[in-house]
Amino acid sequence: MNRAECQAMDQQDSLSGLREKFLLDEGLIYLDGNSLGPMPLAVAARVAETTQAQWGRDLVTSWNRHNWIDLPVRVGEKIAHLVGAAPGQVICTDSTSVNLFKVLSAALSLRPERRVILSTRDNFPTDLYMAEGLAALLGKQRCELRLVDSGKVHESLDRNLAVLMLTEVNFRTGARFDMAALTAAAHAVGALVIWDLAHSAGALPVQLDEANADFAVGCSYKYLNGGPGAPGFLYVAARHLESVTQPLSGWMGHASPFDFSPGYSPGAGIRRFATGTPAVISMSALDTALTVFDGVDMAQVRNKSVKLAEVFISCVEAAPDLAGLELLSPRDPTARGSQVSFSHPGAYAMIQALIERGIIGDFREPDILRFGLCPLFLRFVDVFDAVNTLAEIVRQGSWQAARFQQRQPVT
Ligand SMILES: *Cc1c(COP(=O)(O)O)cnc(C)c1O
Repeated sequence: MNRAECQAMDQQDSLSGLREKFLLDEGLIYLDGNSLGPMPLAVAARVAETTQAQWGRDLVTSWNRHNWIDLPVRVGEKIAHLVGAAPGQVICTDSTSVNLFKVLSAALSLRPERRVILSTRDNFPTDLYMAEGLAALLGKQRCELRLVDSGKVHESLDRNLAVLMLTEVNFRTGARFDMAALTAAAHAVGALVIWDLAHSAGALPVQLDEANADFAVGCSYKYLNGGPGAPGFLYVAARHLESVTQPLSGWMGHASPFDFSPGYSPGAGIRRFATGTPAVISMSALDTALTVFDGVDMAQVRNKSVKLAEVFISCVEAAPDLAGLELLSPRDPTARGSQVSFSHPGAYAMIQALIERGIIGDFREPDILRFGLCPLFLRFVDVFDAVNTLAEIVRQGSWQAARFQQRQPVT
């Protein structure tokens, strides 16, 4: 693979025009859209309008005049399109961590005779921490978190299981579970399934309804480009919506919040999964950020993502200087999300050295170089140049400079 071949792939890329919708410096190669997506240009005007014209001028009347009150459901519907959910099942609210607590509690309440939540040891820690917190709150008689290796999920399903809680794409390795197969297997033993789509939504086609998923949660500041701390989303399958409740029963999930009645009665459908007042500025930014996906075919996004990863991996394997890097991501694209990860003892310093050269990737403990491949704005030449710069850094040994060893608070 040479640079000219990558340029030719860019010329044939039907998604290449989408890059112009983002604020990205020409000299920058951004391989971290899976941690914080770049800013869609249209967001700036929306935030200005929300703050100056709406909050600034129309003040509290904006809740009606600009329909702020319905933002969680409206934005939820936009996300629903991207995750294969029919209307009425997705709401944009809170953080992924808080949403997990809500759906975990809801799922457990649908299986009162069972108490085990099964997840994987290598799941994103907040998912496990939230389950731990819920288990501590409910007590051992009612809830127990059981962890297994990712390769052992299938064989660990049994009739004690209340909930299977999995992240579709692993944040370290990019390894991807078969959502439909595992959902069916969990249902066969009478368990419910929660999918975390943090590294799936906006990166690959997701079919929650088709897979018969029960619940899902996800982030909107990663591949959905909603901005730092943008509110997350949650999905509840229509078949559960009327029978299920969740314990964070705040007024925004009430059937009629503006009655101000002393007792809680859950709102209709997915609205009962709201808790407090929505983060209007942030959610407006996300609402506009999602327009980048208008008319975009997720199958094409996936197709490009697979090709970007193939170029990345084959360039690494062809570079003698990078022989010390070990591929951690599955080689089979069907078993992988939209990132490639490698391990190397010098991973932290190598990522810092890359950042100094205008190539932003991620380090993950203990020794992982992680590269997010966002097909909406990345070019094949970006991938080519990133790998070649890394090879140069290794060849020259420049990554071993003392300044690259200094750990920052956020890695
Ligand atoms: C990024 C990520 C989160 C983040 O949760 P927040 O509550 O938004 O901080 C949760 N789960 C997974 C799998 C993630 O990758």
